[in-house]
Amino acid sequence: YRAKAGGGGHLFYQPQMSVGLAERMELARDLMRAFNQGELQLYYQPQVSLDSGELVGAEALVRWQDRERGWVSPSVFIPIAEARGMIGALGSWVLREACRQLGSWRQRGLRFPGRLSVNLAAQQLEQAGIAERIQQIAGEAGVEPDCLELELTESGLMANVERAIGIMGTLKEAGFSIAIDDFGTGYSSLAYLKRLPADKLKIDISFVREMLTDRHDYTIVNTIIGMARNLRLKVIAEGVEQPAQAEALLALGCDEAQGYYYGKPVPAEEFARQWLAAHA
Ligand code: C2E
Ligand code: MG
Ligand code: MG
Ligand code: MG
Repeated sequence: YRAKAGGGGHLFYQPQMSVGLAERMELARDLMRAFNQGELQLYYQPQVSLDSGELVGAEALVRWQDRERGWVSPSVFIPIAEARGMIGALGSWVLREACRQLGSWRQRGLRFPGRLSVNLAAQQLEQAGIAERIQQIAGEAGVEPDCLELELTESGLMANVERAIGIMGTLKEAGFSIAIDDFGTGYSSLAYLKRLPADKLKIDISFVREMLTDRHDYTIVNTIIGMARNLRLKVIAEGVEQPAQAEALLALGCDEAQGYYYGKPVPAEEFARQWLAAHA
């Protein structure tokens, strides 16, 4: 989450920084302006199969480079967008833009394997008709649901678990894949996990970071992978930075990985150059 998340410029607003009320109000105002002027961008980070090393998907991550502040972390501005009632418009834009990009790659004869993952904020789950809205956006862009994966954070799901289960069911029925993001940080019980219509668990970066040096983190990673396998869910590890982590995860039975070791989030052009092959 730290410096240079935007790739290039210094990341001034780090997620762990506490942002005061006055500053939050200014950020909200500037975010609104930037959004309305089309200054937000999506970056794309590869997701790979741990055994073959092949690309199996990518995560779309929103980026905002403010003129004065430099890169502002989405961990800072997404919660502000949620609190300010902007997340509906912003979230819809992210999905539309991700779909547009998939279409553009296709049009240029580039093959995108697997699914493109898009994050949904907790607040988006509170919006009436959100599942229908998501289907509508994909449909209008001509993107089939089986080209997309939606990431919902474990803590976001737990905020209103019955409602979340309904939304996930509708989306899954329509053909979207569902991943539970930041898994291990949201206090869901096994009883809920069993009922959630998810396809995949994303092991939170905080456990992966220290998994080779902290016995407890290693145990947690091992436990999540075991749980996923028992529940017939796929499992992906976030934040893989070292080859030794990848080896250990593979040995533990983890399916996929995402992290700086494979590639940082990059603009669409760069992602295509590095990862997408022309159709045979
Ligand atoms: P997330 O969905 O868990 O995304 C993974 C974060 O980990 C990304 O941070 C990514 O850049 C970072 N990351 C990936 N690999 C590594 C690694 O090897 N090492 C380190 N240190 N970090 C790594 P990013 O892009 O700053 O996003 C932070 C969070 O902001 C995301 O966490 C997600 O919760 C939220 N976010 C980002 N884009 C969107 C969006 O379009 N919509 C919504 N609702 N939330 C978003
Ligand atoms: Mg995510
Ligand atoms: Mg995550
Ligand atoms: Mg996260």
